[in-house]
Amino acid sequence: MCIIGAGINGCSIAYELSNENKKVILFDKEGIAGGGSGAAGAFISPKFSKTGELKELLDTAFTYSLDFYEKNFPELLTKSPLLHIAKDDKDAQALLSYKKDTTHKLLEYSSELNESISIDAGIVDAKSVCEAMAKSAKLVRQTVDSLVYDDGVWVINETYYAKEVVLATGAYKQLIKEPYIKLRGIWGHRIDVKTTTKNPYSIHQFVSISPSCNGQLAIGATHNVHYHPESAKEPYNIESGREELLEKASRTMDLENVEVITDYVGLRSGSTDYMPLIGSLVLSRETLNNTSINFEMKKVDYNKYTYYPNLYMINGSAGYGFVLAPYLAKLLKEHMLSGKEISERLSPVRFFARWARKNKKPFYKE
Ligand SMILES: Cc1cc2nc3c(=O)[nH]c(=O)nc-3n(C[C@H](O)[C@H](O)[C@H](O)COP(=O)(O)OP(=O)(O)OC[C@H]3O[C@@H](n4cnc5c(N)ncnc54)[C@H](O)[C@@H]3O)c2cc1C
Repeated sequence: MCIIGAGINGCSIAYELSNENKKVILFDKEGIAGGGSGAAGAFISPKFSKTGELKELLDTAFTYSLDFYEKNFPELLTKSPLLHIAKDDKDAQALLSYKKDTTHKLLEYSSELNESISIDAGIVDAKSVCEAMAKSAKLVRQTVDSLVYDDGVWVINETYYAKEVVLATGAYKQLIKEPYIKLRGIWGHRIDVKTTTKNPYSIHQFVSISPSCNGQLAIGATHNVHYHPESAKEPYNIESGREELLEKASRTMDLENVEVITDYVGLRSGSTDYMPLIGSLVLSRETLNNTSINFEMKKVDYNKYTYYPNLYMINGSAGYGFVLAPYLAKLLKEHMLSGKEISERLSPVRFFARWARKNKKPFYKE
């Protein structure tokens, strides 16, 4: 089995498949966690919002993943309380609503100035956890620029063969170009800083601030919707990124004697409805040309669609890759190995159904 992309999504599915004694080959142009995953603060927290399917999914994934990391990689998980402070009135309303409904146990910490919420949460060591998960896979540090299905197998870069392929390429250029798949990359920056200020817990407000450890803490955010490393004309301005992070952190707490030690940057990828994408990909050309399908019908029979053979995707985890990946990888593994269905709300098929309805073309035009 072949996985393309060694971020937290690719490494999580590699881990699941290796544990089932599958031979896994993992491709990444930058090595393990060289994309968005390597830049992440990797806080494991739920989404503090009003009801909604993403909040429900993240509630489930939060409980699952915290337990998963604790059982399988306890040395890479730091359990610590998380204090989320509202950044505006809308956020404050969402926190109030979350407090009323949640089944998670809330803690006593609070902010004097704004509405806030606190919960037992955790942080994982982003790069090390990806490396640990990918340990049993064979890593090939190479850009995949050719992926062709030929005579029952996928041929990768005209050299490697695999029966099944999982695309876990994040917000970077998509290898399979399908018009209904739209992923947006948001650029993020994290800095590890030395400071004499001691912070006992994780704080999320305008940026995320980790608890201090050995006189250091991490400050990070994904907020730059304009910069994309594959299309930018200018290199990313690290200095102004640092300034922005430190200014936003200073609105939450006073940090004294700050010295930036390391910068990490990367893209996180999100879908247009904010839900992740896991499962098989619809072949739009063949499916649109199937005259027995009425694309106007609200109730869709997805079994009538034509899918790429043995090709899967795991992507679009937005700012929650480390919360979602272990849970999504388990669902994807069950789908790949036992044919267990993936909910329409998580599958890329939902975007095809919407796209086909909008385009209303009886035949695919060249
Ligand atoms: C600053 C920052 C802070 C964050 N904080 C958190 C947090 O606290 N908690 C949390 O859960 N999430 C956080 N996130 C989000 C999280 O990092 C992402 O959701 C997650 O990294 C997505 O993982 P991925 O595997 O989908 O993508 P990526 O990590 O981007 O992995 C994709 C990989 O595919 C490789 N690739 C792409 N195309 C090819 C190709 N053609 N050939 C070979 N290799 C290829 C890339 O090199 C890359 O390594 C943060 C993100 C950032 C940037």
